[in-house]
Amino acid sequence: MIKGQQLVNALDNSEGIVLITEADGTIVFVNKTFEKVYGYTRNEVTGKKPSILKSGFHSRQFYDELWQTISAGKSWSGDMVNRTKNGEIVSEKASISPIFSDDDSTITGYIAVKFNVTERKKLKEQLEMREQLFEKLFENSPVGILILDAIKSEGEIIDFAVERANLKSSVIFNRLSFIDQRLSSVMCNKNIAGLMKERKTVQHGEEVYEWEDLCKGKVLEFKLFGLGRNKKCLLVTDISTKVKMESRLKESEAHLRELNETKDKIFSIIAHDLRSPFQAIIGFASMLSDGMDSCSSTELKKMAAQISDVSEQTYKLLDDLLTWSKSQLGQLSPVPVKVNLKEIVEKVFYHLRQQADKKNIRLINDISEADIAKADKDMIEFIVRNLVHNGVKFTTSGGEVRCYTEREDGYIRIRVKDTGIGIQPAKQKSIFSLSGNLSTKGTSEEAGTGLGLMLSREMVEMNNGRIEVESEPGKGSCFTVVLPEATF
Ligand code: ADP
Repeated sequence: MIKGQQLVNALDNSEGIVLITEADGTIVFVNKTFEKVYGYTRNEVTGKKPSILKSGFHSRQFYDELWQTISAGKSWSGDMVNRTKNGEIVSEKASISPIFSDDDSTITGYIAVKFNVTERKKLKEQLEMREQLFEKLFENSPVGILILDAIKSEGEIIDFAVERANLKSSVIFNRLSFIDQRLSSVMCNKNIAGLMKERKTVQHGEEVYEWEDLCKGKVLEFKLFGLGRNKKCLLVTDISTKVKMESRLKESEAHLRELNETKDKIFSIIAHDLRSPFQAIIGFASMLSDGMDSCSSTELKKMAAQISDVSEQTYKLLDDLLTWSKSQLGQLSPVPVKVNLKEIVEKVFYHLRQQADKKNIRLINDISEADIAKADKDMIEFIVRNLVHNGVKFTTSGGEVRCYTEREDGYIRIRVKDTGIGIQPAKQKSIFSLSGNLSTKGTSEEAGTGLGLMLSREMVEMNNGRIEVESEPGKGSCFTVVLPEATF
């Protein structure tokens, strides 16, 4: 039999907390582990009741039931929450048993053996909290999350089986059930193995696959990475709005650039293109008045004709500027009517005949009475006037400007063809826009602004049509305006 001190040593070395009381609950012994856990010395607690350890966590009923069990000679075991000397909480698994007299007739005391499970409990709580956090993040994530199981063939991943998918994935892919479905059945791009081969990157030593895809009108961003040994996690973000905003931003940036170019152009026109013709008019007019008595009538006529030429050019410039400012202010809105194209061309020819005759250029109207377009009449007149005017301006003596039409599937092609100097291929791309369009002088040094074709293109588009050019330097140019045919 072990002796008293041997027993005390054995109990002191035990990992369990040992507390022994008399039958009335007065503490007679606590081991070293008790002292370590609760911070009381053996002397401090001897003679006291275990109630000094009470944490306030348990109800009175809890202690009553415990006491009833052990005082009836039975063992009690369960979870207990107590408090240390300095107030810290201790969670323990406890087992309390009665100690009987040698003849087993009476209870002489009680022995409690307990294990401190505070740390284990804390870890468990932390783990539970993490699980809850994961579940909450998973279900409430603004990003689609799919947990995947690799499907392999000959050691290579060929597809994945979906193990879990969150709510956001349902919204993104517009489907409710994912479980056990193949990833390729969910995605628009079915070539999962191909994607993985192409899109592999290594981030912090880990393989990550990233790609973007168009799926049912949405722009989706994917990120696939490893989860444990065989699983992967796929994050899916719907970036359609972001992409749309970016393109809107680019559009507004282009619009701003255009506005800035417009502003520069206005200043350059006012500073130069409008100033010089006025200087010319003033010069010719004063020459005319100074020479009224001394010059011959031929000389006077020549001066008057020069004033008339410059005034006409300036008038056209002002007219273009006015139309342009209207278009900039958004005040140009087409009123589509039936437009007799032959009549329009005739009217334009009437105004430009004098200019053409002076350069010995023939104007030919080959348009038929039956060619009726659906468009804004004033706008079409502006367009045709600009095209014919350019034809005359860029053609040398003896040439011609011919207008004719071709019909095709509800559209009419109005062609304005000249036998002039033509346009270099590199320049052909820029003549319909403001940026990069450099105005060149005509064959009789006629000045221009480079506004006419840009405005013509704007107006053609407002009338649901388009404008094109074919030109060969030295041979001539042919401008085509395609407009919807009027239906009767
Ligand atoms: P502008 O004639 O006032 O310069 P436009 O916008 O009408 O402005 O034309 C822009 C440029 O395109 C002209 O300066 C010229 O270089 C070229 N161009 C237009 N029409 C013709 C044409 N029929 N033949 C040759 N070059 C042309």
